[in-house]
Amino acid sequence: MSMKFKAFSIGPTNLKPDSIPYIVGGPCAIESLNQYTHISSELKNCGVSALRAGIFKLRTKPNSFQGLGKEAYPYVKIVREKFNLPIFSEVTDPRQVEELSVFVDCFQVGARNMYNYELLKELGKTQKPVLLKRAFSATIDEWVHAAGYIEAEGNNKVILCERGIRTFETKTRNTFDINAISYLKRNTHYPVFADPSHGTGDSQLVSDISLASVAAGADGLLIEVHHNPVKALSDGFQAITPSEFKILQKKIYKLHALLKDEF
Ligand code: PEP
Ligand code: MN
Repeated sequence: MSMKFKAFSIGPTNLKPDSIPYIVGGPCAIESLNQYTHISSELKNCGVSALRAGIFKLRTKPNSFQGLGKEAYPYVKIVREKFNLPIFSEVTDPRQVEELSVFVDCFQVGARNMYNYELLKELGKTQKPVLLKRAFSATIDEWVHAAGYIEAEGNNKVILCERGIRTFETKTRNTFDINAISYLKRNTHYPVFADPSHGTGDSQLVSDISLASVAAGADGLLIEVHHNPVKALSDGFQAITPSEFKILQKKIYKLHALLKDEF
């Protein structure tokens, strides 16, 4: 039996225990107003819960596309207003918190920043939800303690997001820790999301791992979607297309309906 978290709002939507999985979709990174509007419009038609907005990208290689940064702010404002959907966006520096607050509905803390306690404390001082990704090699305890830094400042709207960990396996980008989802749902009070895109690094596996996450009790999913993955400026190899997303979303809702009484 899983523990129930306290419901909270994310922009115009609500995150509630036992309700249909909350699905956040969108490209890894915003590349242009056209690209972002096009993908968001397809996702809105599918009935997505919220949009990813990759503005600041923490890339492993310094010469990889780093995101549009501030240039994307007006694009996000336009898309958010046009589709009336909440925006999830990664914050990489405490100095961005105030300016992002204007148009971001849920702050995302990336795997590389899970241990950035100054950033976590700053986010704890806001009243916006925070999606906290697991660091590559963080234990579940370290991850939960990181969430505690946000809560200690007075912000209890924390979502934990499993995004794969580093193991000896090299066939996939990361090893998705399905155990973590089941464990956290049974032993902590947090809503738990899954990111099967970074968790696998392979668009072919995204559907299976999304469904496995829902079966393990995940409350939501964060999925990378691109209308032209081959041309994407980042993470195209793990992006699914809007039509694949539509099929997956149907399966997620069906599976959840079948299992909901078990959780
Ligand atoms: C992302 O979601 O865009 C991202 C960079 O993920 P992670 O921090 O999990 O690598
Ligand atoms: Mn990505």
